[in-house]
Amino acid sequence: MKKNDTAVVKIEDIGINGEGIGKADGYTLFIKDTVMGDLVEVKVMKAKKNYGYAKLLRVIEPSKNRVEAKCLVAKQCGGCQIQEMDYQEQLQFKQKKVIGNLERIGGFAPEVLEKITQPVCGMDEPFHYRNKAQFPVGTDKDGKAVTGFYAGRTHQIIPNTDCALGVSQNQQILEEILSIMNENHIPAYNEQDCSGLVRHILIRYGFTTKEIMVCFVINGDNLPCADKFVDKLSQIEGMRSITFSKNKENTNVIMGKEIEVLWGDGYITDYIGNVKYQISPLSFYQVNPVQTEKLYKYALEYAGLTGEETVWDLYCGIGTISLFLAQKAKQVYGVEIVPQAIEDAKQNAELNDMKNAEFFVGKAEEILPAYYENYAKEHPGQQAHADVIVVDPPRKGCEEALLETMVKMQPDRIVYVSCDSATLARDLKYLCGEGYALEKVQVVDQFPNTVHTECVTLLQRSRGKK
Ligand code: SAH
Repeated sequence: MKKNDTAVVKIEDIGINGEGIGKADGYTLFIKDTVMGDLVEVKVMKAKKNYGYAKLLRVIEPSKNRVEAKCLVAKQCGGCQIQEMDYQEQLQFKQKKVIGNLERIGGFAPEVLEKITQPVCGMDEPFHYRNKAQFPVGTDKDGKAVTGFYAGRTHQIIPNTDCALGVSQNQQILEEILSIMNENHIPAYNEQDCSGLVRHILIRYGFTTKEIMVCFVINGDNLPCADKFVDKLSQIEGMRSITFSKNKENTNVIMGKEIEVLWGDGYITDYIGNVKYQISPLSFYQVNPVQTEKLYKYALEYAGLTGEETVWDLYCGIGTISLFLAQKAKQVYGVEIVPQAIEDAKQNAELNDMKNAEFFVGKAEEILPAYYENYAKEHPGQQAHADVIVVDPPRKGCEEALLETMVKMQPDRIVYVSCDSATLARDLKYLCGEGYALEKVQVVDQFPNTVHTECVTLLQRSRGKK
């Protein structure tokens, strides 16, 4: 096969980025926008020695798992990768992806995994689930300000104010903002030459409290016509906070370092279960509240708390899991690298009148080993112990220095929450080589219509065995 060749292909597999995989004359092709089971006509765009990338020209026979995308720009927009895949099929795809990594990278036997893997936990309504959206702002060919999301792997904005994953309120907010920008000639930011002003619009919505915040990210010191924006936006039901954040750097980082309040509070409040959280524009907060509650319930169940336990929650963010656990534990220690998040965590503990949660700023792989060593110095002949350790690292997983200390602290249970099953598998392999056994694997779909997966696993210490 070579560039510009066309072929008819049956899609037989799905790649890790959601693209369909099929063969033409034994040559493997990766084809975006196709679904397992489709018979399609494609055109080769890029041909390598053993495989190539092709573009979908036409679906000859749709798969029984193909559904119509809900969003009009689903194909162009890089936000969703698998909106045309039936939701039940999406769930099976994610379950298979996690199990596949645990087998290949983790070295776990398929028959063991079969016994411990729980049915995947999906959503009843896999749309409009995100409580947060950061819309880039740009300029269209007529010079009008537009917002939307980037096309896959580029920074080209696909205009859309009605994202099917976000809350319905986003549309009205964005349209009010765009119309004020266009009427008053307030320019959107231009990444090419770092000119213009409005870079992003951040919107957050508390699903339980129905509170809304809007934050403008601007390449300047002030937001012109701030009173006009405030006038319109403050009338929207639930609006609690209108702020801006200066970001004058030439960077892909969205938010600036600080927040200035234009109207209302600098934060909104929301609940996960019974725990109340204060969320500022800069706080990390799980984006899918419905599934987060389920995820945390599994984490809590796996932690097996009776009220007597000492628990560490590593990579704790604003202390969401920590406070969930603190309801049932004797003492919880949270560790997080972002100082502002720890400030929020402390405030959230106070807000909920929880006195048994303590937080540390720093790298988990430095804080925990240092704590362990100091403890030994201060308590000769003893060693620091934890009953349960929970980790929820970013995609790169845990550093070995951290895993090593975790093992030394001999927790009865380790609950590993992961958004990347490849690094999860690597870390579980290490822990299972050091006396732990994998007891449960639960995939929870936090990101329907995208290829991202999240799962929570339970490891149990098998005493004496090493
Ligand atoms: N458990 C939290 C956050 C999980 S996201 C929740 O459910 O809301 C992962 C968190 O790890 C982020 O807040 C990130 O800032 C933090 N982080 C990244 N690297 C870290 C490190 N080396 N040590 C501690 N925290 C880290």
